[in-house]
Amino acid sequence: MADKKPHMNIVFIGHVDHGKSTTVGRLLYEHGEIDQRVIDQYRQEAEKLGKSTFEFAFVMDRLKEERERGLTIDVAHRKFETDKYYFTIIDAPGHRDFVKNMITGTSQADAAVLIVAAPEGVMEQTKEHIFLARTLGVPQMIVAINKMDATKPPYDEKRFNEVKEQVEKLLAAVGWKDVPFVPISAYKGDNIMKKSENMPWWKGPTLLELLNNLKVPPKPTDKPLRIPVQDVYSITGIGTVPVGRVETGVLKVGDKVTFMPANKSGEVKSIEMHHEPMKEAYPGDNIGFNVRGIGKKDIKRGDVCGHTSNPPTVAKSFIAQIVVLNHPSVIAPGYTPVFHAHTAQIACRFEELIKTLDPRTGQTKQDHPDFLKTGDIAMVKIVPTRPMVIEPVKEIPQLGRFAVRDMGQTVAAGQCIEVEKKTL
Ligand code: GDP
Repeated sequence: MADKKPHMNIVFIGHVDHGKSTTVGRLLYEHGEIDQRVIDQYRQEAEKLGKSTFEFAFVMDRLKEERERGLTIDVAHRKFETDKYYFTIIDAPGHRDFVKNMITGTSQADAAVLIVAAPEGVMEQTKEHIFLARTLGVPQMIVAINKMDATKPPYDEKRFNEVKEQVEKLLAAVGWKDVPFVPISAYKGDNIMKKSENMPWWKGPTLLELLNNLKVPPKPTDKPLRIPVQDVYSITGIGTVPVGRVETGVLKVGDKVTFMPANKSGEVKSIEMHHEPMKEAYPGDNIGFNVRGIGKKDIKRGDVCGHTSNPPTVAKSFIAQIVVLNHPSVIAPGYTPVFHAHTAQIACRFEELIKTLDPRTGQTKQDHPDFLKTGDIAMVKIVPTRPMVIEPVKEIPQLGRFAVRDMGQTVAAGQCIEVEKKTL
């Protein structure tokens, strides 16, 4: 399929109420991606309520209610298509679990769209999300300055420039470069799909143009093979079939593979995706593959498959850079929450708090602090309580990120800098 467009996963971030849902809703609505039946139903409701004109805002409010009802859905996946890309939106909901989903979910963001409301300007979560996107390794970013219709006076170029300057300072502080901006009104539709007549001073691209201008995410085929195991089946007549998404590298029929930390090896007899057999699988492919020489009980979710010649790294300990997102008290050495990395969930101990870092400069703030608190960025030494596969983010970024969960929330997120290998 030569004309197949690339996929692009985008995440919408920014302070609560700055207009993430409205922007997403606007993009989907204008791309005709909101089900006609839903629209018809909403239109009838609007008529009943005596609203003579049917408005986009009504669709938005109803969608929001529906999402609030569907709290069990961690991440709302929404899709639309342009002439250049298939976009999947990982809408960052109000709660902080999107961090975990970005790391452990099936879709790591290829780009972030930061929404900042023009009247309010930079707020607490604006800063936090900019830093988070950086720490989680989101490769590209767009900034949309929203609610331009609500500045005083409306569509004020001066206010846009003020907020743009505030955001640019934050971006530069954590090392983001060449981030494009656009002034929008998600509510009214300015500069989303078509150039706004309300902002003749804006000569730059629309949000849609910026989305189309994003760089195609590279396929990490040149990296070592890594397939985190999601599930393992035993299929009559076939044998053991692990299932998972190829994160990096290429898997071919006939390859010798090793699962870690299980330390079990076998030969790949067949690969299939969507019930179609295939000879080789690439990054992004969700596959099941039959491995001869391995029993169903030998491996489990959280193991990682690699080539026997270059098997996944099992950590005795690792050095990580983390950001503490949300901890009710403090993190001290000995704290042992659950780390979520790829498909693994393993309790890990904070062995050593090496130092805290200044988020603006990346320089050491304090050596060996007694504890870490919300907002701190730190280098720490982590010891998994059970064998665990993790890779330095510099070598295999897809296998180097993690979320730290405790008491039902994401308390920290980070990346693995260096691994002390476990000898098996
Ligand atoms: P989220 O929490 O970031 O997802 O924000 P929402 O999309 O839910 O928007 C929060 C509030 O801001 C809602 O009442 C929206 O109707 C309003 N809003 C969103 N975008 C705009 C805009 O462009 N202009 C104005 N005036 N209000 C907006």
